[in-house]
Amino acid sequence: MARRLSVVDVERCVDCLLCALACARRFGEGGLARSAIAVRSAGGVERGFVVVVCRACSDPPCLAACPVGAVEKARVGVKVLADRCIGCRACVAACPIGAVAWDEERGKPVICVHCGLCATFCPHGVLALEEVGGG
Ligand code: SF4
Ligand code: SF4
Ligand code: SF4
Repeated sequence: MARRLSVVDVERCVDCLLCALACARRFGEGGLARSAIAVRSAGGVERGFVVVVCRACSDPPCLAACPVGAVEKARVGVKVLADRCIGCRACVAACPIGAVAWDEERGKPVICVHCGLCATFCPHGVLALEEVGGG
């Protein structure tokens, strides 16, 4: 069964950014520059936070927007073919939830691959891998 990363309890998010730091470490790097998950203020201290990460659209706008076929469907979500990518950022603009991050150094998009590493680092159970049918 395929599994998709989900934000299961955003009320418990404290903006510690451990999820994003863990994601960037997939590439053996510190910092947040290559993280595919982001945490933003929901608009005021009382409102808490919004965790922004790919929702694995069934008909992905990011894929449709790419002019060179550098975004492909994956078992869950999408994958970026970096060798094919020309760095136009159309995928960034197309994602309705702003879940395509941008690697400034390489000039390429970064999109969640639904590995779930971030969920293992979240100390408050905000994130989880959930089984999805048909994937
Ligand atoms: S990056 Fe955005 S548009 Fe692309 S599959 Fe994920 S949520 Fe959908
Ligand atoms: S930045 Fe790369 S992956 Fe994104 S739409 Fe442009 S060519 Fe495609
Ligand atoms: S690790 Fe969990 S609590 Fe910390 S910012 Fe990420 S989702 Fe929020």
